[in-house]
Amino acid sequence: MSKALFQNAIFQNEDRAREALEAVRWPDGPYCPHCRNSDQDKIAKIEGEKRSHRPGLFYCNECKGQFTVTVGTVFERSKVPLTKWWMAAHLMNSAKNGVSAHEIHRTLGVTYKTAWFMMHRLREAMKDLAPTPIGGEGQTIQADETYYGNTSKRAKHYRKGHSRKAAIVALVEKPSGRARAVHMVGGVSSPDIRKLLVTNASRKSELHTDESALYKKVGKEFAAHKSVLHGWNQGGYYVGKDGQTTNAVENFFGTFKRGMRGTYIHCGEQHVQRYLTEFEFRYNNRSGLGINDGERTAIAMKGIEGKRLTYRPAN
Ligand SMILES: [Zn+2]
Repeated sequence: MSKALFQNAIFQNEDRAREALEAVRWPDGPYCPHCRNSDQDKIAKIEGEKRSHRPGLFYCNECKGQFTVTVGTVFERSKVPLTKWWMAAHLMNSAKNGVSAHEIHRTLGVTYKTAWFMMHRLREAMKDLAPTPIGGEGQTIQADETYYGNTSKRAKHYRKGHSRKAAIVALVEKPSGRARAVHMVGGVSSPDIRKLLVTNASRKSELHTDESALYKKVGKEFAAHKSVLHGWNQGGYYVGKDGQTTNAVENFFGTFKRGMRGTYIHCGEQHVQRYLTEFEFRYNNRSGLGINDGERTAIAMKGIEGKRLTYRPAN
């Protein structure tokens, strides 16, 4: 990891890190997380010469409450400095295949456990709370399914009796290229696929899949359904005669699996969706769309608000 990467003040100075987070979360000025008051005349920054208060503390004259930029976010109650949150977010958002909790642990000087919890909170931040259907008229949706599971010998030893792999379905919209990736708990069936497709994709799109029977019925609901023949070396083709292909969604799976193999060794099935969310976020905010690492990190940090965590927060 390049040392120069962390020379920016937001990784060095807690005040700068907090101001950067305030700028990302409150582009129009602070608002009160308790009563949603955003009247700037009724919000005052509490600043004391003696610094007797927590830095970055605001007072709301509407509800007489106090708050900082982390109240009501996934960082609330965390003792990890914001400089390190920025570092972790930056590391997760600058590598296409992601970064391991071990690397966060070593680079940031936090415990492995803290690194692991930090990363899950940042994955929460990357989650789209109100996803709208992708695709539409004149657009194509590529859909495909894959199975993910740790098949190393060591993992097999630990996972005796749990040989079932996690089923994943991904959709990629073309030409704009947004992706949606979903862990299908309990496996994949045609009704499951139908529900996923009609919830996440506009049926005005053209649907491109492989020849799997899973898509045959729901395909009729779309503007058109074209399939390519896969998994067959002789005579198989990856681009059909009408230009249909599932290459983009297969590339998404490839990136996911490479990243998971290289960096996420201890992913239990209960966490698969969180990892998919992370890969989906990076894909949907990729450099090919003109979003650089710093911008991607800022977009992720903007999402820290309003997320609930279903597991016990770490220190
Ligand atoms: Zn208030």
